[in-house]
Amino acid sequence: MTEHVVPYAVNQTRGRRRGEAAPTGRTEFQRDRDRIIHSSAFRRLEYKTQVFVNHEGDLFRTRLTHSLEVAQIGRTIARSLKLNQDLVEAVALAHDLGHTPFGHAGQDTLNACMKPFGGFEHNLQSLRVVDVLEERYAEFDGLNLCYETREGILKHCSVANARELGEVGERFLKKQRPSLEAQVANLADEIAYNNHDVDDGLRSGLITLEQLSEIKVYARHEAEVAALYPALPQRRLIYETVRRMINTLVTDLVTESGRRIAEANPRSVDEVRSAPALIGFSEGVAAEQHEMKSFLREALYRHYRVMRMTRKSQRIIEDLFAAFLDEPRLMPPQYQDKAREDKARAVCDYIAGMTDRYAIAEHKRLFAVDEA
Ligand code: MG
Repeated sequence: MTEHVVPYAVNQTRGRRRGEAAPTGRTEFQRDRDRIIHSSAFRRLEYKTQVFVNHEGDLFRTRLTHSLEVAQIGRTIARSLKLNQDLVEAVALAHDLGHTPFGHAGQDTLNACMKPFGGFEHNLQSLRVVDVLEERYAEFDGLNLCYETREGILKHCSVANARELGEVGERFLKKQRPSLEAQVANLADEIAYNNHDVDDGLRSGLITLEQLSEIKVYARHEAEVAALYPALPQRRLIYETVRRMINTLVTDLVTESGRRIAEANPRSVDEVRSAPALIGFSEGVAAEQHEMKSFLREALYRHYRVMRMTRKSQRIIEDLFAAFLDEPRLMPPQYQDKAREDKARAVCDYIAGMTDRYAIAEHKRLFAVDEA
């Protein structure tokens, strides 16, 4: 039971890691989406962040609302290109499941801690969550998702790790692309975060409208809105500008990808996998996006207030890692059991699964002398 899609879309699955009877009343990829939504890692996304720390304010995006935005943008693109919407949605909702607390800072620190023990990659961790770490089904560990969903979740992977992964790691060795659905989810992620970081950045006061007026893509859309609605209050002007930027990106992506697909003329998913990247922005829009990303990196992600939080979160993760590695019995019992097999990996899984506030509380419990 698959919706109507083009022949080079994912029409059916290669299968699950462990064979299961086909679902009734929903597609294989709808079942994957449903399993992802019911996972505990998905619920924890509500209290994890990308740039801002979770307790900084109720209006900022969390990884949960980010993932929902990625799914929405991804479905729209997939619908326009007649690709498998359910698969895009499943990949989008799962793509950040392996993220550590404290966004990029947390992930870099955990990677540094894990250097002597095989490292840490958040994409690989997302796959580990759905393959191994979720423990809710009687028959198997993980969520036993379809190959195509797992392929989409594993956006990047080192060659060394790819060799260990079997089928789902092969494309990194053969230098192939994933399905168009995975490519769509990846770019929907980029569209979502660039735009919501502009919105959140302005709301937090870390970036200003003066700074953004130097950035072509923002200036262009803002001028368009200001000309149409000269009396618009500033907050609405920002929203209207951001929504128009998202619309420009989605429209451009659909047009440019349609053009590339027509040119490459793939007849199957396998032909898509060996073709160059078929989902992408036009040159002009890609250049504008690049400028926006560089701006956000400098002005927002390296803002001194973000850097201070980054520093603090590094310390929290380093302290927790050192303490648990030194004495695994400080961890809850289920992680102690796992530590008997692979101590560093068990500590890493425990920390990676924490939300921002849980990591802060755990640090207090272990290191603040006046805490219980
Ligand atoms: Mg993301």
